[in-house]
Amino acid sequence: MQQELQEVYDEVLHRNHGEPEFHQAVREVLETLGPVVDKHPEYREHAILRRVVEPERQIIFRVPWVDDSGRVQVNRGFRVQFNSALGPYKGGLRFHPSVNLGIIKFLGFEQVFKNSLTGRGIGGGKGGSDFDPHGRSDGEMMRFCQSFMTELHRHIGEHTDVPAGDIGVGGREIGYMYGQYKRLTNRAEMGVLTGKGIPWGGSRARTEATGYGVVIFADRMLNTVKQSMEGQRVVVSGAGNVAIYAVAKAQELGADVVTVSDSSGYVVDEAGIDLALLQQVKEVERGRLSDYVERRPGARLVQGGRVWDVPCTVALPCATQNELDHHAAETLVKNGTVVVAEGANMPSTPDAVEVFQGAHVLFGPGKAANAGGVATSALEMAQNASREPLTFNEVASKLEGIMERIHHKCASTAEEFGSPGDYVLGANIAGFRKVADAMLEQGVV
Ligand code: NAP
Repeated sequence: MQQELQEVYDEVLHRNHGEPEFHQAVREVLETLGPVVDKHPEYREHAILRRVVEPERQIIFRVPWVDDSGRVQVNRGFRVQFNSALGPYKGGLRFHPSVNLGIIKFLGFEQVFKNSLTGRGIGGGKGGSDFDPHGRSDGEMMRFCQSFMTELHRHIGEHTDVPAGDIGVGGREIGYMYGQYKRLTNRAEMGVLTGKGIPWGGSRARTEATGYGVVIFADRMLNTVKQSMEGQRVVVSGAGNVAIYAVAKAQELGADVVTVSDSSGYVVDEAGIDLALLQQVKEVERGRLSDYVERRPGARLVQGGRVWDVPCTVALPCATQNELDHHAAETLVKNGTVVVAEGANMPSTPDAVEVFQGAHVLFGPGKAANAGGVATSALEMAQNASREPLTFNEVASKLEGIMERIHHKCASTAEEFGSPGDYVLGANIAGFRKVADAMLEQGVV
């Protein structure tokens, strides 16, 4: 890393103790920004880098609630409003026991550049809680979401900060949170949250958007080497929102998807993942992958291993951060993987990315490949503002155009800076440049 960028990184380490995921996300971006900072001395002059790594605002709050047995539980809530140069803060809420300030900051930082790449005028933020939704009843979920929103509502608004879902937060949770927001503010302010139900302001195809977008991005990467998703053998990790719709889109484009996973293990289904059964088990019953295997002859559940050991030509990590390390990357390379597109945020460790790039595997980083979800959230905000809902096909076709443009922007920026095929550099520079220019024009704020 250049000396000046190293100094910014050292300051981040000094200021943000015990936040390894945030350090990792910052380092990964700074490492690629040397050429753009050389080209734009004004970024240096106005301390753009030192400002862009510091969140505009960080909110931490207590979330007390009562469980079904009448016991008082206490969780911690977070909202990090990272950067509003391009528009209102925008980014999901994550409910998972691993959540802490460093994880929310890494996600918020990534979100700034991802949202910039969508071209939709949205800033970056992220939030969540260390609350574990597994095994909680509907009543418990509702009481938790209401308590969470009772504090969060002071900090958000359709022109201020617009949260959405992420791990552990889907349509049900957004519903409970929107209901409480409306009750507290006495405002039917639909644009304050995205991922809503269709009858009350949600966008068609928002549920599908992230997974669909990842596969469209992978397809465009394959097109650069005269291939497509058709006939590819695909390994997917995760079995949540992103994973399910990545499976759906890959199958629609003629690929064979042979795995999904969750924290209990991974399923290998050589006949191809049965999408309807997966949705029934995961979306309707909120069950485990063992329930899938029990009802699917020929499928097996592997516990304790790595889904990346299953040979494939396309790998789609769609579960969580750092789920794919350099050992897994080496296995994928050895097995002939051509494309890796990240559905999750930062699922590949830095040394895994190095392995892919060293082996000329086409590697699509999350901030570009999974941007279809937030881009469609921006379409949801536009529909809320205009009160003019789009059809499923209209949204799906806009999503395809957006993913196409993001792919093109990453590829052409990588070329402009002398690293053709480096989507990491392309995504970081293209995302950063727009934010940096907006910050310059808006003065020191
Ligand atoms: P989700 O519906 O809650 O699903 C998450 C999946 O990943 C589940 O199968 C879960 O398994 C698994 N998982 C989560 N944490 C894990 C861990 N520590 N170890 C093993 N498995 C784990 O969440 P999602 O919305 O699909 O999000 C998945 C990823 O995509 C996240 O990185 C998220 O930030 C990213 N993303 C999501 C969106 C979106 O629109 N939803 C947009 C962009 C990026 P268990 O159920 O067993 O925990």
